[in-house]
Amino acid sequence: MAKYVFITGGVVSSLGKGITAASIGTLLKKRGFRVSIIKVDPYLNVDAGTMNPFQHGEVFVTDDGAETDLDLGHYERFIDESLCEENTVTTGKIYSRVIERERRGAYLGATVQVIPHITNDIQERLLKAGDGRDFVIVEIGGTVGDIEGLPFLEAIRQMSDRAGRENVLYCHVTLIPWLEAAKELKTKPTQHSVQELRRIGILPNILVCRTSYPMTEDMKNKIALFCSVPPEAVIETPDEPTIYRVPLSLHRQKLDRLVLKYLSVSCEREPDLSDWEQVVDRFMNAPKSVEIALVGKYIQHKDAYLSVVEALYHAGIAHNVKVKVRSVESTDVETKGVEAMLEGVDGILIPGGFGNRGIEGMIVTVRHARENEIPLLGICLGMQMMVIEYARNVCHLAGAHSQEMDPATVHPVIHLMEEQVSIDKLGGTMRLGAYDCDLVPGTEARRAYGADRISERHRHRYEFNNTYRRRLEDAGLKVSGICAERDLVEIVELPGHPWFLGGQFHGELKSRPIHPHPLFAAFVGAAIKKKGIN
Ligand code: GLN
Repeated sequence: MAKYVFITGGVVSSLGKGITAASIGTLLKKRGFRVSIIKVDPYLNVDAGTMNPFQHGEVFVTDDGAETDLDLGHYERFIDESLCEENTVTTGKIYSRVIERERRGAYLGATVQVIPHITNDIQERLLKAGDGRDFVIVEIGGTVGDIEGLPFLEAIRQMSDRAGRENVLYCHVTLIPWLEAAKELKTKPTQHSVQELRRIGILPNILVCRTSYPMTEDMKNKIALFCSVPPEAVIETPDEPTIYRVPLSLHRQKLDRLVLKYLSVSCEREPDLSDWEQVVDRFMNAPKSVEIALVGKYIQHKDAYLSVVEALYHAGIAHNVKVKVRSVESTDVETKGVEAMLEGVDGILIPGGFGNRGIEGMIVTVRHARENEIPLLGICLGMQMMVIEYARNVCHLAGAHSQEMDPATVHPVIHLMEEQVSIDKLGGTMRLGAYDCDLVPGTEARRAYGADRISERHRHRYEFNNTYRRRLEDAGLKVSGICAERDLVEIVELPGHPWFLGGQFHGELKSRPIHPHPLFAAFVGAAIKKKGIN
């Protein structure tokens, strides 16, 4: 039977529940346990695929093509394992299955209710995730007290009967705010939040307290007393300069030991965290730095390009340089000029995106990078803009466009393939999840990966139009990666340029702090070379 660690949150959102869950996962995995992590999102959307990046930040995609909350990205980066559709549960998913079963008559005439039908469906999914695992960590999205989170809290409360009290542990992440006027940290919101949890029948075993200032022993004792946990179970998580320091900090406070103790699991082996220590050390103390411009269209939301920024950091860690990211809104390139926005950068990255806005700024950016020999990495939409720019300015295909931006274009160098058209209301199905890609010998892509065949994750509708392939290749743009199953162009690059490469997939989704993505590593390597600091 797997052991379950439930992570809830109180007082406010954005307390870093995801990082706490991921860190506990890391520590348990480093002790040799088989760990899985699940994110529960109480919203009604079936998945995160339809969500606006301005509201929700990036959509993370797994190998099996699930469009998920960005916390899954944290989990994968921390536990260094690929997750799948089953690692994400939403209210939308639960209700869809229950209603579908009800229509089939599977409930044999019973009145279908939140308790037990919805709560049972939740528990079935959690129990299934425990197959072949020692630990399942379950993060409940939202904050205790939210109406829509109640069925999930009830389900995890019932899990202590279903899985056995000795197999479940509740960890509550809460805030200890600093009151400037009183010059004091305040514990009352935490007490109230724990009371709210207890009111619905959950007695937290461990409290993880977010603070901006160190807590005193007295304060920890007070929280312990009021919230009925032992003082050792009051853990503090101060703001850290990098999230990768959190597992180290939690280990120092013996959180992993506590989890094992409360769940009666014996384990002599201490986790070997030397690789994490090196990641943190290099992130904080790298002697030199490069600056990369991130020219995107959702720059205002700090999490819209979360995995891209993390992948850049990972690449910096691999080279022992600090990567500074200059966020540039592509519409500002259009209005304020490319030179002004990109002056002095050592490399440029154009990430993914949807729709028309800002794409001309991206095309101008590509030209700037190509003509001024600045290393450029294009991801998905970024790669598509590299192809359009080349078609327009080097092949002189006036009006070369993507069908997404201009359905009537005469030169749709990026197009919607026939088999995709009119499958869904948005005008085509998405290519989602992992696809194999063959790399062409002698290319930068082949060199960077050091492999002939790779697998990368996709999330896009439009494709490179093979009608124009010959023309673009004759003009010097090299196709260096082809989808193994279908004749689709996956990577383009420009021989002779210091580093100019675009991929139709999202390499950032597979980058991990201890295994940086090969293209990001090669790209940052080129930026270092450009700056002349290698
Ligand atoms: N909007 C483009 C497409 O659908 C690119 C998508 C992306 O960058 N993820 O093909």
